[in-house]
Amino acid sequence: MIKKSIYTLLLGILLILGACNDTMNDDDEVAESEDANTEETSTDQTKKESEVEEEPSVTEENDDNKPDQENIEEEPVQKITEPLYKIDDNWSVVPIEEGTDENVVLITIDDAPEKYALEMAQTLKELEAPAIFFVNGHFLETDEKKEQLRQIHEMGFAIGNHTYTHPNLSDIDESEQKEEILSLNDLIEDVVGERPKFFRAPFGVNTDFSKELVKSEGMLLMNWSFGYDWEKDYQSADALADKMVNTEYLTDGANLLMHDREWTAAALEDIVKGLRDKGYEFVDPMTLQVPE
Ligand SMILES: [Zn+2]
Repeated sequence: MIKKSIYTLLLGILLILGACNDTMNDDDEVAESEDANTEETSTDQTKKESEVEEEPSVTEENDDNKPDQENIEEEPVQKITEPLYKIDDNWSVVPIEEGTDENVVLITIDDAPEKYALEMAQTLKELEAPAIFFVNGHFLETDEKKEQLRQIHEMGFAIGNHTYTHPNLSDIDESEQKEEILSLNDLIEDVVGERPKFFRAPFGVNTDFSKELVKSEGMLLMNWSFGYDWEKDYQSADALADKMVNTEYLTDGANLLMHDREWTAAALEDIVKGLRDKGYEFVDPMTLQVPE
């Protein structure tokens, strides 16, 4: 009888010791996982210590390792989207590496989407000519216009920031410049789901402040090589198409400025076909190098 009681007692002590060890092991694990994740856990350490839900953080750590392996598999996709062209000091498009097609021009449409941008996007889409649409916030205040922008983006065109209200940036102070640029980035992101990667200042007037801001926002700043649709002599489809295709300024990498205008929309097909007849193809804006 006495022996049995001693055995029972010993068994009891062993069980308690075992339980203590388990608890201690758990604590060690918690301590390790918190050390490994100091940044994540520092804000809710109290919660972690009081609750016994340490499992998730350990699982999180394990999961962290998985994406690394997936990233290795995804790398080839990133290589395909590596930039092919950059913008030089004359706002022309130049190949980053030798061997990339130099006989290209860039189509850009400013002041969109006022009236004709969607129609112009449809024309370009049919002709398989990529382009950047530089938009203004004051044209994006109705659901109809937002829907147009969404459609232009869904057709595969790049969306650029052309400021919210189209001011001359040198006439307004830094906080206003910031508002003009960032509020439009926010609006574009709301509508199409991503922030613009390109910026063009109204009238081509940039300030040191706006240049820095644009760069810090990861946007590529650009002006243009030539354009004519705001000049009286070229406000008809035929005159404009003829000038855009035959101007002396047409060279490899030219950055073509056009606008959301009636005569430009009407001339667009002839412009694209005329440039192709001259041996030019059109730069896909997605292949342009943008700041990190
Ligand atoms: Zn403009």
